[in-house]
Amino acid sequence: LRRAAFDYLACRRHVLLDMHVPDWDERLLRDFDPVAMAALYRRAGAEAVMLYCNSHVGLCYWPTRVGAVHGGIGGRDLVGEAVRLAHEDGMAACAYYSLNFNNWAYHEHPDWRLAPAVPDVQFSAPTSKYGLCCPNNPGFHEFELEQVRELASGYDFDAFFFDMMFWPAVCVCDRCRSRWREEGGGEIPSVVDWFSPEWCAFQAARERWLAERFAELVKEVKSRLEIPVFLNAGMIQTGWIHGQSHALLDHNDLLGGDPTEPDDSALAYGLLLAGLTPTTLQFMYAFSGYIGGAGYLRSVEEQQLRYALPLAALGGQYMAIDAVEPNGGVNPAAYEVDLAQVFTAMEPYGELAPGRPVGDVSVYWSLPSQVDFAENGTPLSDPSFSALSQSPLPHGEAVLGVVEAARACLPVGVVTRKDLGRLGDCPLVVLPNVLRMDEEEVAAVREYVAGGGRVVASGYTSLVGTDGVRHDDFRLADVFGCHFDGIEEAGISYARPRDELLAESITPLTRVPFAGEPATIDPGGRRGTSIAVVADDDTEVLATLTRPYAEGRGTKGDRAWASIHATPPFEDTDQPVVVRHRFGKGEAVYLAGDLDARAAESAAARRLMLAILRSVLPEPSFEVDGDPGVWAIGHRLDGAGGLRLALLNYPGCLPARRSGRLRVAIAAPAGKRIARIARFPSGARVDFEPNGSGGADLELDGIDRIAVLEALFAEA
Ligand SMILES: [Zn+2]
Repeated sequence: LRRAAFDYLACRRHVLLDMHVPDWDERLLRDFDPVAMAALYRRAGAEAVMLYCNSHVGLCYWPTRVGAVHGGIGGRDLVGEAVRLAHEDGMAACAYYSLNFNNWAYHEHPDWRLAPAVPDVQFSAPTSKYGLCCPNNPGFHEFELEQVRELASGYDFDAFFFDMMFWPAVCVCDRCRSRWREEGGGEIPSVVDWFSPEWCAFQAARERWLAERFAELVKEVKSRLEIPVFLNAGMIQTGWIHGQSHALLDHNDLLGGDPTEPDDSALAYGLLLAGLTPTTLQFMYAFSGYIGGAGYLRSVEEQQLRYALPLAALGGQYMAIDAVEPNGGVNPAAYEVDLAQVFTAMEPYGELAPGRPVGDVSVYWSLPSQVDFAENGTPLSDPSFSALSQSPLPHGEAVLGVVEAARACLPVGVVTRKDLGRLGDCPLVVLPNVLRMDEEEVAAVREYVAGGGRVVASGYTSLVGTDGVRHDDFRLADVFGCHFDGIEEAGISYARPRDELLAESITPLTRVPFAGEPATIDPGGRRGTSIAVVADDDTEVLATLTRPYAEGRGTKGDRAWASIHATPPFEDTDQPVVVRHRFGKGEAVYLAGDLDARAAESAAARRLMLAILRSVLPEPSFEVDGDPGVWAIGHRLDGAGGLRLALLNYPGCLPARRSGRLRVAIAAPAGKRIARIARFPSGARVDFEPNGSGGADLELDGIDRIAVLEALFAEA
């Protein structure tokens, strides 16, 4: 067992050169120069390099015995050279290996191919360049294991990365069919139905098959090299088709990935990784758009403000991904100028330890809830499933909305199923339209609230089990203080706050869009999640439903509408849509619509959502006020020794202006007071006003890119 020469987990500044280039033209990769590349990586200021062993093309950059070597590299061992050069230049070397996406194997072994249930699904459409193989195919699996064995026994990697460990489509190849039969499932269901135990069992098998296969690959590496191994977790917040699961993530030593649009913001994804990773997190960003720096470059400012500095504040790693030009060259300026500036901006924050951000508002992210009940009854072969992974899903949208509403002013973090045992540490848990929950989750939430916890839940939360059982009532109805009474007829509706503080939060508005999209000229508008509930007697109604005219379904052929461009509020009702209920020593607020999902885009929804969160949250660990274009990230110092607060300029659009003046309040734990606040890394003192309870109030003039404060606690 060989140990790593470099500590990969401690490296913050990473580069990767994508090399998905074939070899059927002698000009391809002809000019590739590993020595020149190593020099560029070093001049950029990289601490670690990820290097291509193979690519989606399937051709290898080392002299493999079981596959095909790229013909354009002149018989050289590029992997061996790249590892040696990186180490000579003081940089860690991480292997890159592409699974499942392998054109060479696809053409060489037609029986290894993935057979998508939708023939023209994304990635495998006739117009696509990708050759996909089935991860369930034993021959293909053995081939990949043998290649990984060669790599792990032949090279001194400091880490090993597997790309593309997801299902690009639902595979219905002979092997997938026979395996599902062998496991007692019968025929693969032909219809998607999240209210069907049979369908849900098949989806669970797809997830398990991936996790089992990945475990074998990890074992192959770890039996030879004592190094961190991880996969591309860029798909974990996307839809169910990709088959991502906690079981798959459990085999990773760190979590990283390159999420693609529309989920490519570091905001929610970074918080999700920070909450899930066993060590540190890595955000991978293709700054030349997978095209290459000769033809495409994202700006230095975008890399700094959107990714590199937020990742530094999270104590994580930023990986800049470039793509090689087909001839093997790169744009040197992208490294010597752009990346050098990006990495230099990160340097002062390289000592910030990774760790879970302070998340007083803990948003529950459920991997099994990345589905849409609107899919129920749709044939597996329906073309709509080709785009599903890219479209926003109800739970993901709601998570993002809550995070977006809170990030400028309150400590917000992400929790998952892995945190069920530590919910008691969370002042407030948000359950945003958690479409599928298992009994263990339900029991943990109930116990948490009974013991004094606070919950804000919305939509379908706890109505449907991960086993496909749709219950008659919320499993948490006793906690919410209200009961499921069907789907609300009006798919577009409004909330009218009855509670004084909530009403004040939306003034001068009196009603706020609560479900669906009311301001659209599309027929009918977008139907949102809207649930009819009946409240218990001891439940306080905070807001009631206002319906549009005739339920807002009208067309020019009828009279079921009252305004031609939109679906405005018309008929106030007493039907509760936001309720508050004491349960045990804690309390719950339940929202019957998708206000949380709307909060990412609507200022009124954001204000109301914030007012709801504040109404149940005790004194937060910190609070920031003054500029919605800020992202505040807190970390505890040495347990309860202090609080580190990173304030990031994170505006909606670039170029960024200096932020507005910020008012900051930092709380001290019971029995403590704030003795000193200093700027990091300079150590310069920051003036503050002690508040009555040991905490501190202070003001900052504004920030250009990032400001990091450290508040130190002392005995009160
Ligand atoms: Zn298959």
